[in-house]
Amino acid sequence: MIKIEHLVKNYGSNCAVDDISFSVESGEIVGFLGPNGAGKSTTMNILTGYLSGTSGKVSIDGIDILADPLGAKKLIGYLPEQPPLYLDMTVDEYLNFAYDLKGCKLPRAEHLAEVCEVVKITDVRKRVIRNLSKGYKQRVGIAQALVGNPKVIIFDEPTIGLDPKQIIEIRNLIRTLGKGHTVILSTHILQEVQAVCDRIVIINKGKIVADELTENISRAVENNRRFNVKICGPSREVLSAIKSMSGIVYAEALAERDGDAYTYMIESDYGVDVRKKLFYTMAERGWAIIGLEALGMSLEDIFITVVDKSAEDKIRQSKPTRRRSGGKDALEKQVAEAMVQEGAQKRAIADATEIEDEE
Ligand code: ADP
Repeated sequence: MIKIEHLVKNYGSNCAVDDISFSVESGEIVGFLGPNGAGKSTTMNILTGYLSGTSGKVSIDGIDILADPLGAKKLIGYLPEQPPLYLDMTVDEYLNFAYDLKGCKLPRAEHLAEVCEVVKITDVRKRVIRNLSKGYKQRVGIAQALVGNPKVIIFDEPTIGLDPKQIIEIRNLIRTLGKGHTVILSTHILQEVQAVCDRIVIINKGKIVADELTENISRAVENNRRFNVKICGPSREVLSAIKSMSGIVYAEALAERDGDAYTYMIESDYGVDVRKKLFYTMAERGWAIIGLEALGMSLEDIFITVVDKSAEDKIRQSKPTRRRSGGKDALEKQVAEAMVQEGAQKRAIADATEIEDEE
């Protein structure tokens, strides 16, 4: 439905969008995620025909935005970061104005009533926009985007400045709209794309650094195969007992010590829950487990891992991962490798401590 090929946008010597390509299939809700200044708005403005690119090609449902801007724009509903509202108009006046501007051919009264119903603004249709709350203003902006029933809807930072209740309402609304439309949601809020989108495209400094299904990102966040476990007992023997357990792919002693207890970071194989076995193995030897903490990765960690160039460089320079390489997506590998890297640093500290303790 949306195809962006080798898009470049230079502002003078500043390259805001640097040769990006991605496509969005019909019916998908795609999150376009990146820090401020990454190039999101520039891309959205080119996609919606408000700006022209320096080079590259953008097409909507097969229509080239440069060759046939009007034809392409008819397929798009756009909610910019600042909704283009005329504050002195009533909601009804404004939506009728949008209807005329778009040259909409659908039956006017029914169509506008339906749009107001979908975004739940029927009760404020006669009110002047200036007097509405920020949440309602945002809904009116979304209603404007829906006039003409476009196939594609593009939201640029749709929840900025809203209170938590309004944020939830707008996210639910976007999800509902995604059932009948192709949606791009541009935002710098990770939780927003995770809550709403099927797929996430991450942009940083004008370049795409990740393009992943949301479930893959969530899996990397939620998969609890890594634990910190605190065990009372001699650290070398405990570590060797943990390492000899089946289902454990990695274990190391960390620098933390609490009385006669040491903390170990352990990692189990895919789909294996080692916690009970770990308990019985340690109990058999009289070593008490006094703490068990699941280590996930927050979306922020993943985001930093993916967009932080220095982290990427570290990953590239790191030794090959101990993990099986086949069949897992690139992002999870990146995340895993970053964690192994971090683990290696902690182990170096632990080794130093262990030598001191046992010498
Ligand atoms: P985002 O929406 O991700 O915050 P933008 O697309 O607004 O990023 O900006 C990308 C880069 O382009 C930034 O470095 C910004 O300063 C620059 N930029 C954006 N608009 C203009 C402009 N009209 N003139 C010059 N530079 C611009």
